[in-house]
Amino acid sequence: MNIHEYQAKEILKNYQVAVPEGIAVFSVDDAVKAAESLKQKGTTLFVVKAQIHAGGRGKGRTRSSGAKGVILARSVGEVRAAAESLLGDTLVTIQTGEAGKKVERLYITDGVEIRQEYYVGVTLDRTRNQNVIMVSTEGGVEIEKVAEETPEKIVKEWVEPGLSLQGHQARRLAFALGLKGDPFKKAVKFIMSLYKAFKETDASIVEINPLALTGDDDIVALDAKINFDDNALFRQPEIYELRDKSEEDPLEVEAVESDLNYIKLDGNVGCMVNGAGLAMATMDMIKLAGGEPANFLDVGGGANVETVRNGFRIILKDPNVEAILINIFGGIVRCDRVAGGIIEAAKDPEIIKKLEQMPLIVRLQGTNAEEGKKLIDESGLNVISAVLLKEAADEVSKAISA
Ligand code: GDP
Ligand code: MG
Repeated sequence: MNIHEYQAKEILKNYQVAVPEGIAVFSVDDAVKAAESLKQKGTTLFVVKAQIHAGGRGKGRTRSSGAKGVILARSVGEVRAAAESLLGDTLVTIQTGEAGKKVERLYITDGVEIRQEYYVGVTLDRTRNQNVIMVSTEGGVEIEKVAEETPEKIVKEWVEPGLSLQGHQARRLAFALGLKGDPFKKAVKFIMSLYKAFKETDASIVEINPLALTGDDDIVALDAKINFDDNALFRQPEIYELRDKSEEDPLEVEAVESDLNYIKLDGNVGCMVNGAGLAMATMDMIKLAGGEPANFLDVGGGANVETVRNGFRIILKDPNVEAILINIFGGIVRCDRVAGGIIEAAKDPEIIKKLEQMPLIVRLQGTNAEEGKKLIDESGLNVISAVLLKEAADEVSKAISA
């Protein structure tokens, strides 16, 4: 799960990670109020930041007003103008894709004078099975680029499982940033606190880009991105509260509510499969046959009427879908029961109408596969049934090129 920058900074603040002061707002009037309240505390440079679940805002532009997603403002009046240009507009950045994201929240922060920009990130290194802390002097730019072109500029420390990040590791990292004296001490504390926040919130990634050395020799996070491990959210109820469904794909939100594992993709072949491994293999077969999967959808072990119906509903809401492939392996669940489920689900008036205009290919394999196929063939449904996965994929390819 992803959260907004201002939410990430609130969490980090609770862990004593240094972040500039800021106020999140939903309207122009509140943006002005926020600026006035920061001004009273001595702010002379304000930063107006679009809050969307995507980075690259500084270089992004809004579609109508052409405003940048991160705007420096020197007065309350400029904050108002910036807020007016951002709120309600769609911000397009390198990470949002063409569609962009609507700006509905802003973060008004106390701007700092930047002397130097760095990068700090914490994540799980899957090849080592250890958490890794990465720092780089190349802050403020795309870290993927640095990793590709000048990997030596990223310095890493791995944390022993069972131990925490050690002081000497944080010192080595701060040293690698070329820091000395007071900023060095602040960076060590920053890195230690950041790691603690990562660990205790069950984050899967914490990224600070840029981490800034300010004109006052402070070390602060100017940006913050945190992703959480979805499988741990059950024990992080306060973090789960921060979920912003409007930032997520509506079909994915619906799928979660129906207990389906669904991920929307860009292709034209909708697929409904039981088991994640089979779903991956099915997507591969679709590609091999010249199609493009429109989604990943695992209906789980017990494909029944309810799950199949919900699966159909979600797939059919995707306007890109031109054909549907159902690929079910009857291991624990029997194919004849699944076939019954498909037939029953397809009776839904909303579903049947759409299915009439769309090829549906069904492949059932495993326990009672023959009985299942017979039920499908005799159902009167407009279905092409297949036995081998290859046959199914070829039928899909015929269907979409027809
Ligand atoms: P991103 O583009 O979505 O990654 O958004 P960031 O929060 O990283 O902001 C983009 C850029 O705006 C940063 O790389 C900084 O150069 C600049 N910026 C952000 N906050 C401040 C600030 O307080 N003072 C100054 N001078 N620049 C800032
Ligand atoms: Mg950034």
